[in-house]
Amino acid sequence: MENNKSVLWPEGILIALLALCGVFSLAFMMLLRPNPSEAQNRQSINVKNIAANAGTQQRIEKLKVAMLTSWQQGAQVKGLAYSLPSRFQGAVINAAKLTKGEKVIALTFDDGPWPQTTEQVLDILKSNNIKGTFFVVGQNLKNYPELGKQIVTQGHVIANHTWHHWYHFMNPQAAAFEIDRTTDLIYQVTGAKTNIFRPPGGMLHNGLAAYAKGRKYVVVMWSADSIDYKLPTVPKLINNVIRDSKPGGIVLMHDGGGNRSRTVQALPEIISNLRKQGYRFVTIPELLEMEDADQKLIAKKK
Ligand SMILES: [Zn+2]
Repeated sequence: MENNKSVLWPEGILIALLALCGVFSLAFMMLLRPNPSEAQNRQSINVKNIAANAGTQQRIEKLKVAMLTSWQQGAQVKGLAYSLPSRFQGAVINAAKLTKGEKVIALTFDDGPWPQTTEQVLDILKSNNIKGTFFVVGQNLKNYPELGKQIVTQGHVIANHTWHHWYHFMNPQAAAFEIDRTTDLIYQVTGAKTNIFRPPGGMLHNGLAAYAKGRKYVVVMWSADSIDYKLPTVPKLINNVIRDSKPGGIVLMHDGGGNRSRTVQALPEIISNLRKQGYRFVTIPELLEMEDADQKLIAKKK
């Protein structure tokens, strides 16, 4: 900022001169027109503008850049809704049924956003050019909204994993609170409208899944469980995923809800192992689109 002083001084004199000119012309106009309320207002606004523009030019420029950046980011995600083929609205899925057995698999991460581990998972996915699906817990998103924003701005899919992550039975009112409040916050924080739900603990009979199905969410379970929540050794965690991997599969991992350093350690190896086997990584909406396309082809052939 030191350099700015020398630049600002001549500008300061210029402002003073301009302001003086403004005042003189204003006085002159007042003499000419006894009741120039309109003109006077315009003139005094101009005087103010000149002073404000020159004095805070740099701050305005900075603000313009900041506003443009946030507008661009906002435009990217605002109103982002995941297309969900009608056959999956209100359905429960464990994996996609792909007729050609395409080697695609979806990595999913539950219970975040979480300090450190969510960002570490995002970095690993980014360096591998992979998009994943994150099932966030509402109260965690409330605590770490910036991490939630990062999930979406980095191109991943964000999904609903309830507000409290409770397992007990819930009546429709309680289920509505758990699910609606989380979807609303996801929208407020990220601009994404999610229609993808995973019940905590994969429990399908405590009222949550029933409510989600009624609201046309797709209820997403999994076909390969890393069992990372039981804190296995890293090699065991890797093996849990690889052992149950299959085309159209959905892998369950956790980026939040506890110490997930082992998941973070295992993830690069899981990715490279699956890649060597010829797998491509897709998000849940992409996976469902693929099954939908396959099913449409079958229907056409019949
Ligand atoms: Zn969970």
